[in-house]
Amino acid sequence: MQKQKMNRREFVAAGAGAGMLASSSVFGQGPNVIAVRSKPVIVAAGNGNRSKDKDGLTCVARAFKMMTAGSDVLDSVIAGVNIVELDPEDTSVGYGGLPNADGVVQLDSSVMHGPKKIGGCVASLEGVRTPSLVAQKVMEETDHVLLVGKGAQDFARMMGFTIEDDLNTPRSRAAWIEWKRRTDPLHYIPTDQRGLKVPGDMAALRERERAGLEVARQMAAEGWFDIEHLYGTINCNGVNSKGEVCGVTTTSGLAWKIPGRVGDSPILGAGLYVNNDIGAAGSTGRGELNLISLASFVCVEEMSRGKSPKDAGMAAIKRIKDMVIQKRLLDEKGEPNVGINFYLVNKKGEFAGVTLKNPNGRSTYAVCDENGPRSIPMDALLA
Ligand code: ASP
Repeated sequence: MQKQKMNRREFVAAGAGAGMLASSSVFGQGPNVIAVRSKPVIVAAGNGNRSKDKDGLTCVARAFKMMTAGSDVLDSVIAGVNIVELDPEDTSVGYGGLPNADGVVQLDSSVMHGPKKIGGCVASLEGVRTPSLVAQKVMEETDHVLLVGKGAQDFARMMGFTIEDDLNTPRSRAAWIEWKRRTDPLHYIPTDQRGLKVPGDMAALRERERAGLEVARQMAAEGWFDIEHLYGTINCNGVNSKGEVCGVTTTSGLAWKIPGRVGDSPILGAGLYVNNDIGAAGSTGRGELNLISLASFVCVEEMSRGKSPKDAGMAAIKRIKDMVIQKRLLDEKGEPNVGINFYLVNKKGEFAGVTLKNPNGRSTYAVCDENGPRSIPMDALLA
């Protein structure tokens, strides 16, 4: 293996995009191990190129800058998503995330460190603006992977995090009050709608979901929040020139969820998965579908069989589509009426953002490499 002797300045002068032979990088497993060049890149959900820090950097830009300056890849992607977690205007992540049905902001997050082959997660965490940093502490300081609820909060307190009474902002609180005012939610599926044989029309959608969606659409149209933030999350994955791969996912989950509802974001294999020999994948969107298909794991496994990030993501989305057979989750065409997205990067630094449907091309994902930060339309499985 060729040894890297370049210092950072020489590396930048040579052009990070030229790619470098990663001294430790391999792609594939067993006898088919191939040396690859790893091109540094950060890939994230669309909001990874919106919120900015005090220097005007977005999540992907900050993460790329830190990573290419030599910081640990996980530290870099977490620093990136911290910008979004702390942004009161992003109503899908961290501080100011839309609260649960009781008006309480409950946050979920997961992190995974490829080279160290460990991960950490928190679910239903209240009172800490940056759950990704608590998930990292779970990974680094404990013999466990997942802490939830009050236990996660007590752990965060012991780790020195500030615990706040309320993570609502005036905006998220006002939206919740408005939601309460407009709905009388029935949180459970009526008996006659539990089976698979209910009619597929709108009337068959479970009452709460139908009413909730209608209200949410109205409220989004009136500017209470961005409709993309009803669900909404940030996943951010990175690979450096040494081929080290890490990822993080962080969210306030589904707006106005049943208190205690946990989505896919803090579950490794669902909201995030990293294999340092292969790559990383993470998800945003309808977490329940991902929980029953563990599709981030599927993405990485598909890449391990030689698929490109885009083809691997499409295979995972196809698998999810095939899991959606309940009529209440199907539209008039018999296609899933839900959104689900994946952000993938392989060890070489190739990347993709894939979604089930992107009808008007509005859904984008965020990337930063040597060409700088940018937003790219998601590739869709269905027209
Ligand atoms: N996947 C997240 C969840 O289900 C929400 C989202 O990404 O929109 O909690």
